[in-house]
Amino acid sequence: MDGPDLEARDLVGVTGRQAEPGLLVRPASTNEVAAVLATCHERGVPVVPLGGGSGLVDGTQAGPGQVMLSLERMRGIEAVDPVSRTMHVRAGTVLAEVHREASVHGLSFPVDLGARGSAQVGGLIATNAGGNGVVRYGMMRGNVLGLEAVLADGTVLESMNAMVKDNTGYDLKHLFIGSEGTLGVVTRAVLRLRPAPASRHTALLAVPSFDAMARLLNELEGRLGGSLSAFEALWLSFYEVVLASGRHQAPLPADSPLYALVEAQGGDPDRDEERFHRAIAAVSDAGLVTDAALAMSAADRERLWAIRDDIPALVEAVGTKLNYDVSLPLPAMEAYLSEIGELLGDLIVFGHLGDGNLHVILADGGYGADANRVVYDALVEHGGSISAEHGIGEVKRPYLDRSRTPQELIAMRAIKAALDPKGILNPGKVL
Ligand SMILES: Cc1cc2nc3c(=O)[nH]c(=O)nc-3n(C[C@H](O)[C@H](O)[C@H](O)COP(=O)(O)OP(=O)(O)OC[C@H]3O[C@@H](n4cnc5c(N)ncnc54)[C@H](O)[C@@H]3O)c2cc1C
Repeated sequence: MDGPDLEARDLVGVTGRQAEPGLLVRPASTNEVAAVLATCHERGVPVVPLGGGSGLVDGTQAGPGQVMLSLERMRGIEAVDPVSRTMHVRAGTVLAEVHREASVHGLSFPVDLGARGSAQVGGLIATNAGGNGVVRYGMMRGNVLGLEAVLADGTVLESMNAMVKDNTGYDLKHLFIGSEGTLGVVTRAVLRLRPAPASRHTALLAVPSFDAMARLLNELEGRLGGSLSAFEALWLSFYEVVLASGRHQAPLPADSPLYALVEAQGGDPDRDEERFHRAIAAVSDAGLVTDAALAMSAADRERLWAIRDDIPALVEAVGTKLNYDVSLPLPAMEAYLSEIGELLGDLIVFGHLGDGNLHVILADGGYGADANRVVYDALVEHGGSISAEHGIGEVKRPYLDRSRTPQELIAMRAIKAALDPKGILNPGKVL
């Protein structure tokens, strides 16, 4: 696709930046991906892989003279094995389709996030996406058993292992998980499925302090015996902005410094319900929770999650589409936030607290270089990471050394040079 067809195509990313590739190709098979890459490799033409375009770090930026390779025609589920609980899937398949197909077989794919309607399996793998269920099921890395990738020179690397255990030397799939399109183009994958939960119990809890929040997480993990599947923290600043959108009824008054949206998934509906209610009662008795709104139906649950997922309300209120995605040890979080808050003003904060992951938005909408330095430099002393789950892309590339040692960067460059000696794959991203 080029000329007027390409101009008519919407290539504006989530951050608002427009990609302007010289050419957009839409291969329909692994062989076609291999042919495109072999040709580009021979001529030294850069190639930028494009999935659903929902990435948040400008990982799909492309300029004139670059070829954008979209996986949109490589869609579809090849097979589900309900006994081994695996799914063979093409990389252009959208996450919501994976969820739907898994549920047909009484199974689930536990990686879930707000962009489920557009993010593709290949993009989720390339960014090692996390999302709402990481506290129990891990990130993409823990839910991909095998994959197929095409290397920069067009070599097809088939590594479609479908077993949980396979210790036969280097596990090559991990090179591509989280590599953001810089080491190869993911074309197919084997996903690990889980039994669909027979029960889901969800509650929004008002929490009186950060100390109580950290204790609440540990208490619930212990009391719910491994069934805690989400622990999302919402600071009052977040809760107020989302309620001000007028799209939600407040499940709890906006008078607590912190809220936790918690969910437990289990396999025994009667006992699970009793255990969930007992756990909430216990943490309330212990003073870790001052008020609670329990979802009594699926519609209630959706209403609670809609508050957590209403990122558009933040964008409308603050005028920025970007949020800082950082992680750091729980004991360091409060000090970190107050330190950067002193320099940057009011913060809107929420995040997957069960994974030590915070999303921070500057209330005045700023995202300038100085703000970046404040946010990232302070992480170094607290032992945090500049990217918990969104990746590096172009946006965080100048700050990668805050989270990686010089020796790690040398090793990363050596891997890049070995797999992509001409540097044609997604140049300017990550490294
Ligand atoms: C509303 C919203 C909520 C979100 N919530 C979360 C969240 O909770 N957790 C989280 O981790 N992320 C979240 N994200 C970020 C985003 O959804 C993920 O990064 C997602 O994995 C990107 O998938 P994609 O298909 O859209 O990839 P794209 O945005 O198209 O690409 C992302 C990167 O992967 C590369 N890439 C894409 N496809 C391939 C492929 N087949 N082979 C090799 N490289 C490829 C691209 O070059 C780029 O570097 C959210 C985004 C939005 C908009």
